[in-house]
Amino acid sequence: MTFVADCMLGRLAKWLKILGFDVLFFPKAEDRDLVEIARRDGRVLLTRDTGLIERTAKRPNRLFVRSDVWEDQVVQVLDELELWNDVRPNTRCIECNLPLKTLTRERARNLVTPYVSENASSFAICPGCNRVFWQGTHYGDMEKKIAKLLDRHKKDITG
Ligand SMILES: [Zn+2]
Repeated sequence: MTFVADCMLGRLAKWLKILGFDVLFFPKAEDRDLVEIARRDGRVLLTRDTGLIERTAKRPNRLFVRSDVWEDQVVQVLDELELWNDVRPNTRCIECNLPLKTLTRERARNLVTPYVSENASSFAICPGCNRVFWQGTHYGDMEKKIAKLLDRHKKDITG
């Protein structure tokens, strides 16, 4: 499942990409362009705009995002579209929206800090911008936030 997010949902778009999902986001885009992209690419349109929801009432692939808080927005999307099992953190570039390519520790060594090169469990590189991503240092702010999000789902299913 892929997405296009409206202008109000920048943080949601970023976090869905961090979790591995394909999300198009344009800081400035006309509603009709978003609707057209969603139709053309078969993407789910994510929007905070009640007017847009009303105008697209006959279209199937759209979701009204209720909250202003990005964590709640992510949880709503993953809950309602049943995507928790498709979460693959750090597999997509948050700038280019491209799937990352795995990088060996050997090759990553020259591209990251010594701490990261020793302690991360895996590395990946974006084929678009060459930015390097890694997992498993249990150190970064982003990893803590990801863990917290996944925790919310676990609590939901275990009660
Ligand atoms: Zn990139």
